[in-house]
Amino acid sequence: MPDPLADIRYELALANRILAHEGVLDAFGHVSVRHPKDPHRYLLSRSRSPELVEPGDISEYNLDSEPVRPLKLPPYSERVIHGEIFKARPDVMAVVHHHAAAFMPFVVAGVDYVPVFHLGATGGVKPPFWDQRDEFGDTNLLVVKPQEGASLARALGRHWMVLMRRHGVTVAGTSIRDVVFRSYFSARNAEFQTAAAAFGTVGPLSAGEAAQAALIGTKTTGQGRAWELWTARLAKAGGTPPSGGKSARPAAKSKRGKTRKKR
Ligand code: MN
Repeated sequence: MPDPLADIRYELALANRILAHEGVLDAFGHVSVRHPKDPHRYLLSRSRSPELVEPGDISEYNLDSEPVRPLKLPPYSERVIHGEIFKARPDVMAVVHHHAAAFMPFVVAGVDYVPVFHLGATGGVKPPFWDQRDEFGDTNLLVVKPQEGASLARALGRHWMVLMRRHGVTVAGTSIRDVVFRSYFSARNAEFQTAAAAFGTVGPLSAGEAAQAALIGTKTTGQGRAWELWTARLAKAGGTPPSGGKSARPAAKSKRGKTRKKR
């Protein structure tokens, strides 16, 4: 039986690999998407490094972050980050959680992120901080309890990015491509902000500039253009995900009757 989720599983595997290949994710971090037909579910890989995620690794969870079907392999321990944000924000369709090196000085020192170039506005103006210690005291800093995820979602509020003290960052988006675009360009902005601070002066966008520039991803051809580039860079490196094994559509036949080359 064809898998109705084959396309979105593939796109989610691709998003994981793109963000790893572009240096936002490493051994850790994850990307989720809300189920396209059931808003009370989301899709997320099993516990695996993002650069290796395949369509067949991706399972469905309800918004309490319980698997819809029994899992064969262990899930990410921090999946409540995704479930609790999808629960709190019906407008959010995709979530990335990462520990990108570019952001670590900000979350260690508690320095505000500000957009310092136009695409940096995709991360918002002074996105909020969340400190797990405030409500939960000493932990190992992993966000694993539903109450911890819910607290993080409250801190995110109406923003698109929340900085997690001494841990990392969580980014929300309106689609897989939107959340990848925000995650990538906010990480670049963090690099530029740090480099500019070394000169002694950071001159961020004005509030009006930031509001207009935040729409570049969706109101121009920018998002599709970036996605095409990142997909091509990944393909050149040989990192394109396999087409999905059992869970994906069977390989389509071309007009000449040959089976299409496996992606
Ligand atoms: Mn984490």
